[in-house]
Amino acid sequence: MPKDNHANVFVISAPSGAGKTTLISKLLKEFPRLDFSISTTTRQPRQGETNGRDYHFVDKNQFKKEIDTGNFLEYASIHGNYYGTTLKSAQRVLKTGRDLLLDVDVQGCESIQEKWGEEPVYIFILPPSFAELKNRLLLRGTESTDTLKTRLTNAAKELAKYKLYNYLVINDDLELAYQELRAIYLASRYTTQYRKELAEKLLIDFHTQTTLQSQNRQLDLNDTT
Ligand code: ADP
Ligand code: 5GP
Repeated sequence: MPKDNHANVFVISAPSGAGKTTLISKLLKEFPRLDFSISTTTRQPRQGETNGRDYHFVDKNQFKKEIDTGNFLEYASIHGNYYGTTLKSAQRVLKTGRDLLLDVDVQGCESIQEKWGEEPVYIFILPPSFAELKNRLLLRGTESTDTLKTRLTNAAKELAKYKLYNYLVINDDLELAYQELRAIYLASRYTTQYRKELAEKLLIDFHTQTTLQSQNRQLDLNDTT
């Protein structure tokens, strides 16, 4: 994976309406060291969404051109539109050494797993029930009857893929779900993979010291350096 050793990559997915955007916004706000790759999409902007901040909004021709140029790390057709992560937008974050967050659907998750294997942390956010998911999508008021149906039908297929992920966060009570997501984010800094370099440095220190001591044949317990 083309990243700085001290950065983690998080791949987060959820059925539409489960609360992923809400939870991610809280995480980004609390941890400035985490940044997300801005995806490209052919979907129309929603009220309040800004081009270049929420997504790069493009038309189908532009998206296809980017596919042909090989610009995408991954892309997928989702709920009737194209969505993709460009290499450029992922690199923008990785170059700074910050943790990278990829907000992708389950197809995107599968593509990232093919490319980057087990190194990223894969998190799936789930709604507490079908009725609650439908209710949230209705209350959000962003979908037409048709797109609402598509998103709910696709939710069942997406849920079936839960085993792709390392962590499952059930977003019933928002604050509780956020605490779970936050704990996952923090725990990733203490994994053996992440702390390997530190452990290797310690090993060298211990090895050097024990070798020196065996050369001097005795431990100098007064020397605390
Ligand atoms: P997603 O990004 O997964 O599609 P959103 O973050 O847009 O979902 O959330 C969908 C709607 O549900 C939004 O109106 C949001 O305010 C609301 N929402 C998110 N989490 C909860 C929750 N735990 N309880 C009730 N409503 C929630
Ligand atoms: P929405 O239209 O609700 O913003 O997003 C619909 C779906 O597209 C969500 O599941 C979201 O995670 C996914 N998505 C957003 N950006 C990308 C991307 O770059 N790649 C992939 N594969 N999915 C994305």
